[in-house]
Amino acid sequence: MGGDRALRAAVVGAGPSGFYAAEALLREGFRVDLFDALPTPFGLVRAGVAPDHPKIKAVTRVFDRTAARPGFRFLGGVEVGGEIAVEQLRERYEAVVLAVGAPDDARLGIPGEEADGSSSAGAFVAWYNGHPDAADARFALDAERAVVVGNGNVALDVARMLLLGGDRLARTDVAEHALDALAGATVREVVVLGRRGPAQAAFTTPELAELGRLDGVTVKVDAAQLALDRDSAAAVAADPDREQRIALLRGYAGRRQAGDRTIALRFLRSPTEIVTEGGRVAGVRVAVNTLERVDGGRLAIRDTGARETIDCGLVLRAVGYRGRKLPGVPFDPGRGLIPNRGGRVLDDAGRPLPGAYAAGWCKRGPSGVIGTNKQCAAETVAAIVADRDAGRLPAHAGAAADDAALDVWLSERCPHAIGWEGWTAIDAHERAAGSAAGRPRVKLVRRDRLRLAAGGAVRRDRHHATAEENGA
Ligand code: NAP
Repeated sequence: MGGDRALRAAVVGAGPSGFYAAEALLREGFRVDLFDALPTPFGLVRAGVAPDHPKIKAVTRVFDRTAARPGFRFLGGVEVGGEIAVEQLRERYEAVVLAVGAPDDARLGIPGEEADGSSSAGAFVAWYNGHPDAADARFALDAERAVVVGNGNVALDVARMLLLGGDRLARTDVAEHALDALAGATVREVVVLGRRGPAQAAFTTPELAELGRLDGVTVKVDAAQLALDRDSAAAVAADPDREQRIALLRGYAGRRQAGDRTIALRFLRSPTEIVTEGGRVAGVRVAVNTLERVDGGRLAIRDTGARETIDCGLVLRAVGYRGRKLPGVPFDPGRGLIPNRGGRVLDDAGRPLPGAYAAGWCKRGPSGVIGTNKQCAAETVAAIVADRDAGRLPAHAGAAADDAALDVWLSERCPHAIGWEGWTAIDAHERAAGSAAGRPRVKLVRRDRLRLAAGGAVRRDRHHATAEENGA
């Protein structure tokens, strides 16, 4: 298997799981080429984490150290599944790790979802974070009331972002187009809807506590909604973290209005229809639910038949993400992920596909915090190492095993790849623009601007010598 040469791994997707996989592979002696469709690395750390959460973004320093390791190369702006096929990577790298996340939004499947003023939280998050594909999106920020559907951390992120205000946002790295639009927004109330009760909410304690500290924003909860049924009360009593969240909610229920903006948390409400007027969102019709215990002890919703309508001009659904099928890679449409066992990609017959692995949200679904991906990637890399040691990795021979030939192939297939040096040039550019404006960075959002800042069409990092430079 390639004699003494270090084995090659291609990691597809430069988000947290891709970087954690790269780090673990480098430690195991692999050389790693990390591909990303965007010219910039860091996936959801750049395009997902809320701008007012800079501490969470500091994890990029860990990824910078990975990128500085010998044997690491970044190929930004290269779409695997587009200009390069996964199959072609499998022919050239002993291991291919797919860490492509879950880029699509789950849908509600109710009438009115497509109306003007209704959109996914994912699109809103991508927009305010300056994802190049979302730069031209528009949201009905002239509404007075917005409804956010879902009870996870994404729901709380978008609720916060709608009400943070221009002054606070101006100290973050929010995309400039979003800063202008959000500073001028007229939204005064955000209603966050959970289909189950407060004891089943998916958001985490620090994020719930943070809502209560927002300047000029009152968090409202109806005390009657915090009277828990027996099963919920037992679940809360058994989980100190959940108990803390209920205590926080009880504290909010006793608060008086302070300031002119409100986040109202409402539970046991499922949207049944987005009400429109002249094609625009005018409200959300919701079913009132109760909880009932189903097989396995889970508390599921039962529609009581009662209905309410909440007037609003903007609806954001934050009900989770879904993976997207990559050409040439098995996909489980029901679960929205790549079928795998412990990170080994499985073919249609349930057998491991030699040399193909998955890590992160495309492997386990869209759950967990950034650090969860470290463990997830470690499991995948352990599978790769076990396969290497057992001689189960694809044995590339001849030209397919030749490093110079790989570099020629890469420079032909993706001559515009942006290397790590290109990214550091973008980073320096954005930080310099930020420092002039008293902000952490001013993000470049257009691909052509990003390429320009990267220092030209073709950038190669110092490990990425072309065949010519190698003397081939
Ligand atoms: P999530 O935590 O899975 O929450 C999804 C929410 O949507 C749940 O409350 C779920 O309710 C609800 N939901 C699903 N289908 C629905 C439907 N048809 N109608 C109404 N509600 C529905 O997902 P997320 O908020 O997208 O976050 C994804 C992951 O990223 C999570 O692990 C999250 O913690 C993480 N994240 C972390 C941070 C942070 O650390 N600050 C920020 C953002 C995201 P049920 O429980 O009833 O299914």
